[in-house]
Amino acid sequence: MTHGHTEERLFDPHWTPPEAEYGYDLIPGITDTDEEYAVITMEIPWGLVKDKVARPPKHVAFVENMRFETLKALERAVPPVDLVLGIGGGSSHDSAKYVAIKKDARLLQVPTIISGDACVTDPVGVRHEGKVTYIGHAICDRIIVDYSLLRQAPERLVRYGAGDVLSSHTALCDWRIACEKGRAEFDQGSYDQATEDLKRLHEMRSEIRDLTDDGIRAIIELYRDYARIAARLGNDRCQEGSEHFFAYNVEYVTGRTYLHGGLLATGIFVMTYLQDNEHEYVRQFMEDMGVEYGLGNIGLTRDEFFTAMTTLKSFVTEGEHYYSVIDARDIGVEQAEELYNRLK
Ligand SMILES: [Zn+2]
Repeated sequence: MTHGHTEERLFDPHWTPPEAEYGYDLIPGITDTDEEYAVITMEIPWGLVKDKVARPPKHVAFVENMRFETLKALERAVPPVDLVLGIGGGSSHDSAKYVAIKKDARLLQVPTIISGDACVTDPVGVRHEGKVTYIGHAICDRIIVDYSLLRQAPERLVRYGAGDVLSSHTALCDWRIACEKGRAEFDQGSYDQATEDLKRLHEMRSEIRDLTDDGIRAIIELYRDYARIAARLGNDRCQEGSEHFFAYNVEYVTGRTYLHGGLLATGIFVMTYLQDNEHEYVRQFMEDMGVEYGLGNIGLTRDEFFTAMTTLKSFVTEGEHYYSVIDARDIGVEQAEELYNRLK
């Protein structure tokens, strides 16, 4: 494998996150290449990009969902290529990683919305039997952050990206809980670095609300930093905890696909409450960034929310997710009712 990808998931302490290139109208430049390239995308993002390419792609694959079977079929339909462009949101980026690994091709990620950190991270998040698993280790050459493209997206779909950084607030609390119970090992350096990153997010909250170049750049740079921490630490305790498990269970219970950051925002609301972890401060933080949360926002009915809450404990046990507040405290109908009344 000449591009350094592996099919196995790998936490490599020497891995560094991909470089990011920031600017305007970057599509003509990256497609002015002699390499044969495939585009992995969806209808809306491809519609924004297709008239800007300097040379046409050899193949355009449209992502339908992140089920592993669907992804394998998508990859088989792509001819051999030298370069893969993942253009769109998280599903396009995760699918592009998988195709790049299988074709041993160079990988560029081009976000047209920012709903999560999939454009920066190395593993592929796939849904298998309704649950999320991470496979593979893809080496991305560069993330192409084209402000002009991102400004064409509905603003909320870019601000959501902050949810995958703010998840650190709840994830770090879960980590402390797990350490107190002897269920995880603590690492002060990683913890302090993640705490600094959260401070940085807080400083940038109005830039994120206004989606200035600096606000967009801050989200991508924070993703890069969290990816670096995870590689060094050998796990993603600093960024992924009960708020992600809530999100995964909602996906499982409803069988629907969501914008990752939107689902996380609601997960963060729920978990800061259950953790008794600066709930009001975090709620205001999300308001200040213009990151929307709530059941209407993600299209979740009362019944679905109650099911997601009351099955959370068994979901994390069966899925062997990290020890978190979900294991440590009572979560039943009573807590679901309290939270429903705050969220509806
Ligand atoms: Zn995430």
